[in-house]
Amino acid sequence: MKALVYHGPGRHSWQDVPEPYLQDPEDAVVRVDAVTICGTDLHILKGDVPEVEPGRILGHEAVGTVLQVGAGVRDITVGDRVLVSCISPCGRCGYCRQGRYGQCRNGGGWILGHLIDGTQAEQVRVPFADRSLYRLPAEIAGESALLLADVLPTSYEVGVLNGRVRPGDTVAVVGCGPIGLAAIMGARLFSAGHILAVDPAASRLDMAKQLGADRCAESPEAAISAVAELTDGLGADVVIEAGGVPESFELCAGLVRPGGHLANVGVHGRPVTLHLERLWIADVTITTGLVDTSSTPRLLTMVGAGQLDPTQLITHRFGLPEMLEAYDVFGQAADTGALKVALFNTVRA
Ligand SMILES: [Zn+2]
Ligand SMILES: [Zn+2]
Repeated sequence: MKALVYHGPGRHSWQDVPEPYLQDPEDAVVRVDAVTICGTDLHILKGDVPEVEPGRILGHEAVGTVLQVGAGVRDITVGDRVLVSCISPCGRCGYCRQGRYGQCRNGGGWILGHLIDGTQAEQVRVPFADRSLYRLPAEIAGESALLLADVLPTSYEVGVLNGRVRPGDTVAVVGCGPIGLAAIMGARLFSAGHILAVDPAASRLDMAKQLGADRCAESPEAAISAVAELTDGLGADVVIEAGGVPESFELCAGLVRPGGHLANVGVHGRPVTLHLERLWIADVTITTGLVDTSSTPRLLTMVGAGQLDPTQLITHRFGLPEMLEAYDVFGQAADTGALKVALFNTVRA
């Protein structure tokens, strides 16, 4: 079969690889019907995630059809149309028993396209299949489900829930890529009073407005003055960092009100200056995190009910063999305006 293989920093190819097979009784093998590329995959390609070894198939977000299940898989069956979650929980360790699947200590967590071969392939082996796969109801299209593998749960759990968005809050979202835009959708669910979207790209701010932001800022200075105006100089109740660079984090720290929450979602590849000398006295709560995907069942329900429509985040569609072109389009998002790219196998999800 074909797969996207990482060959060390800056090198990747779409090439022939052996088909995956069941290695453990709890495994499933899934035919990939739709898959997407994540900002995290670009970090891996840059060499920012050194535990990813050359030869690894990348990808941790997909929708597919179950081809094989191991003898220990009880709930998922061959032929099921499933969401492949970015997190694979063992279900038995102390963290998993608390729903903290991202921190699994028993060989699970974020392993797909990281520590084991991932989803950017015609087929993928998925460990702990009963907990890593979600059977999809017919009313949920493959495109919607694709955003539930990582983008929606990450923005919802690490951004909106960690940030404790409450009705009437002024929420600032810094960085309006897919995660920031999905955080705006999530903040709307909690009836935020004002949502300020901050990003240098006008096209992303347009999308932010469509998804529920009522104010936009293209620069840090504009963000600071917008928050001051909205809050009578106090600061935002909740600031969600979805930029992943030192400048965006430091802007967030300057936007949050005393007693407010700064929820960092961005993946940082460089150290960030933390101005504790200003933040400590203001009772600011800062949270960080990797997604657990404990919210996935709830998000699936909301998408199925039409309460959330994440498909607007998909800007480009390709066939699976066009993987390298899709990487180029996604990697040059500043020029192409790409948010999420979706790739479909011959069998449309
Ligand atoms: Zn991802
Ligand atoms: Zn575990």
